[in-house]
Amino acid sequence: MTVCYLNDDFVELSKASISPLDRGFLFGDSVYEVFAAYNKNLFRLDDHINRLNKNLEFLGIKINISDSQIKSILKEVCLKNFEENQIIYLQISRGAEEIRNHIPKKDTKPTLFICSFEMKSVPNKNNDTIKAILSSDIRWKKSSIKSTSLLANVLYKIKAEEEGVDELLMSDAGYITEGAVSNVFCVKENKVYTPPLDANILPGITRKVILEIFEELKLNFEEKKIDEEFLFESDELWITNTTKGILPIVELNEKIIGDGTPGELYQYVKQAFLKKIEDCKVL
Ligand code: PMP
Repeated sequence: MTVCYLNDDFVELSKASISPLDRGFLFGDSVYEVFAAYNKNLFRLDDHINRLNKNLEFLGIKINISDSQIKSILKEVCLKNFEENQIIYLQISRGAEEIRNHIPKKDTKPTLFICSFEMKSVPNKNNDTIKAILSSDIRWKKSSIKSTSLLANVLYKIKAEEEGVDELLMSDAGYITEGAVSNVFCVKENKVYTPPLDANILPGITRKVILEIFEELKLNFEEKKIDEEFLFESDELWITNTTKGILPIVELNEKIIGDGTPGELYQYVKQAFLKKIEDCKVL
């Protein structure tokens, strides 16, 4: 049995339901967060809550619940489900209204939904690699908002699957933005590059952790615009996100990246990332 949280109650997932007039369903008028829980400890909880609050503020959605209440509900969802390692989704929409109207009413009560799934592949020491393709970025200019309007991303993931690859990277006017579900890093001559946050990308929490690791390990890195040619010529290519951690791309549009195996810097940074997860497990 999977237990979720909907509005004010913990309920069995199969019994949870919301109105078809919910603005999240009608307009994609909603935001979400994705948390990783290792050994039932939520990784980087404060970072995720801070990003959520920024997104809610951007949309002007006011939810009558404090950060500490949200945190304890998240922890409870995690405890009520038996899996040790979980991916927890939190969705907040502007709520359901009686009459469909683009313009929201001021007193609409937001819908809060939290559910958990087993984390199928926990970041580990295996040398897993992935393949990707590159496509042009057709998304809106506020992709820094973690909105549930994910139609472009859904189409991208379908396309990636059809082409037998794991991720699709996007480029806008010749410059790399991010992956359909991830942030991007590349390595050239022992220096790591990643697009800056003003490149219409999601400020990934994993990206933030990786940048902290660069500082801690005193690695040479720069946040800068990356053009397509630079990307294809890079020695290493990585993606990061909450569900997968950090993974190396060894093939892009069927071109081998580096020597086609996980690079040295990747392995070094991944070790440090795994250590952060280990530390989280014993909190
Ligand atoms: N960019 C996009 C488009 C994403 O969907 C995700 C995953 N939610 C990320 C980046 C990575 O963000 P995070 O590290 O916070 O999971």
